[in-house]
Amino acid sequence: MGRQILLEHINVPGINTFDVYRKHGGYASVEKALKTMTPDEVTEEVKKSGLRGRGGAGFPAGMKWSFLDRKSEKPRYLVCNADESEPGTFKDRYLMEKIPHVLIEGMITSSYALGAKTSYIYVRGEYMYIIRILEQAIEEAYAKGFLGKNILGTDYSLDLYVQPGGGAYICGEETALLESLEGKRGNPRLKPPFPAVAGLYASPTVVNNVETIATVCAIVNMGGDEYAKIGIGKSTGTKLISASGHINKPGVYEIELGLPVEEFIYSDQYCGGIWKGRKMKAVVAGGSSVPILPTELILKTAKGEPRLMSYESLSDGGFVSGTMLGSGGFIVMDETACIVRNLWTFTRFYHHESCGQCSPCREGTGWMEKVLHRLEHGHGHEGDIDLLVDVAKKIEGNTICPLGDAAAWPVASAIRHFREEFEYHVRYPEKVKNPKHFELEP
Ligand code: NAD
Ligand code: SF4
Repeated sequence: MGRQILLEHINVPGINTFDVYRKHGGYASVEKALKTMTPDEVTEEVKKSGLRGRGGAGFPAGMKWSFLDRKSEKPRYLVCNADESEPGTFKDRYLMEKIPHVLIEGMITSSYALGAKTSYIYVRGEYMYIIRILEQAIEEAYAKGFLGKNILGTDYSLDLYVQPGGGAYICGEETALLESLEGKRGNPRLKPPFPAVAGLYASPTVVNNVETIATVCAIVNMGGDEYAKIGIGKSTGTKLISASGHINKPGVYEIELGLPVEEFIYSDQYCGGIWKGRKMKAVVAGGSSVPILPTELILKTAKGEPRLMSYESLSDGGFVSGTMLGSGGFIVMDETACIVRNLWTFTRFYHHESCGQCSPCREGTGWMEKVLHRLEHGHGHEGDIDLLVDVAKKIEGNTICPLGDAAAWPVASAIRHFREEFEYHVRYPEKVKNPKHFELEP
């Protein structure tokens, strides 16, 4: 196993409790930051580390922090986005369940850097048991003097709250999350203004993913320059990957960015290869909101270079022959998987989760779902494939939030890379009417 930063102590019995976590170096970043560093110095270390947002967009975390309007007289907030709902993504759940204190520690250190006196962890509503785990950890941190008034005898005070999410995928979009946190329906806002200027209660707010905030502890402890030495190029550090689908060892893995995709999928340290001795057909690398790639393009770029687990390498070739690292939700499909069926499932999800504010997304996801449903069930028409491409194009770039693009990209890429499979569904409706056709010979 490569370098482990977040999961180093994952198997230590009792690591979910304050005392065991503390014995293994826990809360050192809070002591270091509050007692020896100014808030700006902490922000500077995060900038130097090159840490990029681990929720999916990969936006530089230090840069986001530096956009926070520090001149405003309004209170500043740090909000942790723990509304993990991206299909194929379950890494934050794993981290919060096993080592809740790493998130609490990261929240304290980050809130100090940002000058926040009140911070929130907005947790996916369906993760009810995680909410209880976090509340327990917060209670312990208050009892040990790491939260509340005058933390560790300094003049810094912080209150931290857990807020259960609204039970909708869209509440994970940062502005919808803020609306929901304010007690309203989770509809995304138009950006700009970005939350850094007008976020929670129209106050300067940083919204960061669970893994991003947890990583701040290691950055403060080892220093930004040291952290930046881990990984490759502008993809610094390690990344949690949720691996699922037709692999021998599904689970959550911490990888050093820059690991070859081939090693991740086939090595026994990670996914352990494709199950039942079958061949791999396709991979969705970053949760379902990114382009689907066939085997030859996920293992090697269009230039023939080995594809690496990094923001740059996975997107090499743009959306013609590349994809995105996104949230790190690796969904692997073997040779028996039906691409049309999988795409219908994804699209049904986006249609269901669209908030309905903008017509290209509200109507387009519905159209795509209907067309994919009829193709998959042997009622496809000539022209359906071009219709899907057309609808996807009309959604892309024309919506308030990224959900529209997230629905369009998998459709456009699946047709680009697997067009013959869609044509097969139009040409042989009787064969695809067999509900088990996706398990037959490809
Ligand atoms: P984005 O690129 O619009 O923004 C990234 C972040 O940078 C945001 O916090 C934004 O406020 C900030 N930002 C960007 N430009 C800024 C500026 N000029 N000034 C201040 N701040 C600025 O992307 P997003 O909407 O945050 O995220 C989309 C991604 O979320 C998708 O790529 C998808 O992979 C991912 N996603 C993840 C999950 C999950 O469960 N982890 C769920 C859904 C989507
Ligand atoms: Fe709502 Fe979809 Fe528009 Fe996002 S893109 S605001 S989910 S309708």
